[in-house]
Amino acid sequence: MPNTTIEDIAAGITAALISKLQEQTLGATPVTTNVTADKVDKVDKVDKVEQPVVSNYDDKYFDKLAEKYIDFTYNNPTIYHVVDHFKHQLKDAGFEYLPEPESWSDIKPGKYFTTRNGSSLVAFVVGKNWKPVKGFGAVGSHIDSLTTILKPVSKKDNVDGYELLGIAPYAGTLGNLWWDRDLGIGGRLLVKDSKGKVSQHLVDSTPHPIAHIPTLAPHFGDPAVGPFNTETKAVPVIGFSQGKEDDPVPTEAEKRAPLYGKHPLKLLRYIAKKANVGVESISQWDLQLFDVQKGTKGGLNNEFIFAPRVDDRVCSFAALNGLIDATKEELKDDNSSFTIVALYDNEEIGSLTRAGARGGLLESVVERVVASKHYNPDEVATQDKLRLVYANSIILSADVNHLLNPNFKEVYLENHSPVPNKGVAIALDPNGHFATDSIGLAFVEALAHRNKDELQYFQIRNDARSGGSIGPAISSATGVRTIDLGIPQLSMHSIRATVGSKDIGLGTKFFTGFFQNWRSTYDEFVDL
Ligand SMILES: [Zn+2]
Repeated sequence: MPNTTIEDIAAGITAALISKLQEQTLGATPVTTNVTADKVDKVDKVDKVEQPVVSNYDDKYFDKLAEKYIDFTYNNPTIYHVVDHFKHQLKDAGFEYLPEPESWSDIKPGKYFTTRNGSSLVAFVVGKNWKPVKGFGAVGSHIDSLTTILKPVSKKDNVDGYELLGIAPYAGTLGNLWWDRDLGIGGRLLVKDSKGKVSQHLVDSTPHPIAHIPTLAPHFGDPAVGPFNTETKAVPVIGFSQGKEDDPVPTEAEKRAPLYGKHPLKLLRYIAKKANVGVESISQWDLQLFDVQKGTKGGLNNEFIFAPRVDDRVCSFAALNGLIDATKEELKDDNSSFTIVALYDNEEIGSLTRAGARGGLLESVVERVVASKHYNPDEVATQDKLRLVYANSIILSADVNHLLNPNFKEVYLENHSPVPNKGVAIALDPNGHFATDSIGLAFVEALAHRNKDELQYFQIRNDARSGGSIGPAISSATGVRTIDLGIPQLSMHSIRATVGSKDIGLGTKFFTGFFQNWRSTYDEFVDL
């Protein structure tokens, strides 16, 4: 039996009063209560008892997030669209953009974000009273997903009138899962204006599919049976023309265009028209072919979402919405928290790029905050302060892992097989492919208990090899304790995957609770 003190009793009464107040004041839409991190500091004992910080997680909340996610992933088919979408969402939520190439030495406490390459983003909120010893609580995720990328020279010879396009797989695509699908085109253009300045323009053909990779009918016998060569047998068809007279005649301006001769002129015109610019003003592009079909709820009771690009738009979406939800209140003067979301490119190809998790964007943000005048008024060397920050911080590496597939139950490890609509799953691996350690596991269990979240475990069987994510890369680069976890899904790396329809909301709720309660929870783990 634990000892009960007067303080504990007082804390219990305060908690009950706050809980009553929440019941009375919260409306139908999900909002955070007035119990922000700084207030939690002041009523520290309140936080020691079970205390949901956001209390109205009802069916409406989960339905709304599921719908929002389906729209988000449909409207933002490429990584450039996703980063642009998050930029707008953050600005609407009161976050200020800090360009990476400019000095941050004068930043004040507040809400900020920065981007790199238009394909990675870090958003953070830092309080006036934050000190290195308080560390930071971060969620890192990746926003790249499996796709196909136009080759630097994508034009190909027609085959008896069929117009073809040269594309390359990004992270192991172009297998037969990509065949007979409606493929749209989109991405970013680098456009030069009349003054010679280059800027980014986004394009997206949705809802129009411009390409198909046709399968060969089984009637042709052996040639219809794979495996297939992805260079020669997975070439998308983008049109058909009867003869030379159908070929477009280039204008003089088009002949001078940087991309003229490298890509089909019809495609150059199609894309230029979509972006409302001249063909000649496009200096370069990053274009992809992707599944253009919108995600949908499914199952007899809409238990599921069937959607493209789940790995990993879903954890990124939940993490960013969690940060925004958790920091809705205006920052009070005594706020001592530092919370971060880092969304990276290139996880699917190893993260070793400047926009990837091994490119150091999170570390750069932390170092620049620590070195800024407000947080380093004496302008002393920051190396020791940084070590203090990292030693007191926690990172959640959020990436999808695997739901139990009922047709292949035998390949899953018993008691380590997540199911839908239950809660995020912690990724575990005794051989270091995930960063979760036993203290991290105890920490997230304590956090989930406090926030009334359910957790699941995922670990691979001894006779299979574990996947990985950004966790080991970030934790080894910074020394920060990192826990790998994420929303579980079916059909990882397929062009179309399944998640539980409640899991988007469960993930967002989990991350919201993390940002609000990670510090007080981690304080229970002294020097471990
Ligand atoms: Zn992933």
